[in-house]
Amino acid sequence: MSFPKEVKLQALIACRRNCVLCEKFCGLKIELHHIKQRAHGGKDTFENCIPLCFDCHSEVRMYNPEHPKGTKYSEEELIQRRDLFYQQIANNSRSHKYVSKEVAEYFETIPIILKRLFGTEVDAIGTIKGYNAPLVSYEYLRKNIQNCTPQCVDTLVKWLSEQGYVQTDIRLDFDGTICGTIRIRQEGINFYLESVGRE
Ligand SMILES: [Zn+2]
Repeated sequence: MSFPKEVKLQALIACRRNCVLCEKFCGLKIELHHIKQRAHGGKDTFENCIPLCFDCHSEVRMYNPEHPKGTKYSEEELIQRRDLFYQQIANNSRSHKYVSKEVAEYFETIPIILKRLFGTEVDAIGTIKGYNAPLVSYEYLRKNIQNCTPQCVDTLVKWLSEQGYVQTDIRLDFDGTICGTIRIRQEGINFYLESVGRE
C-alpha cells in the first residue's frame, strides 16, 4: 500500500504537511491514507489520497461496523474535507483557530517565553525553526522569565501541549512545588496571533 512518489509529493505540498482532519502541523508524523481502501478497488492516485496525522489516521481506520462507536468517516466526507482544506491552503485562507483568547491575552510575553523554551530568536507571528533546547526544566522556565508571570508561562505551555507541540510531565511535588520538564516534539510551529481579537 503505497502511493507513487509524484502523488505523495503532490499531496504533501497541497496540505503543507498539515493533517486534513485536525489541521495540525505534522512534520515527519504524517501518513497518506487511501480514502477507498485498495482491497475495495481504491487506486494509488492523488484523488484517493488524504494526508492524516497518526491520531486521525487510526480513527479513520479503526471504526468497526460490527460494534459501532462514534460516527464513521465516510469516503465522501473525507474527500470533501480534503478538497476544502487544500483550497484553504492554496488561497491562504485557513481559519486562524489555533490560539485561544486566553493565550492571546499574553501575546506580548509569548516571544520571551518561546525564546527561552526553544533557545532561539523567535518571531511570534511566523514559524519557529532550528530550536536547540529539547528539554527544559519547567520550574526554571516558570521562575526565570523576566516580565512574565508564572500564570502566563503556564497558559502558554498548556496551549503548546494541547496542540501537540511539546510534551510535558508537569506535576506537583510532595511539598507543593510545581516541577517537571518540557520536551519539544516537532519542528515548525505556526502562530496566527495577529488575527485574534482581544476583549
Ligand atoms: Zn489529525
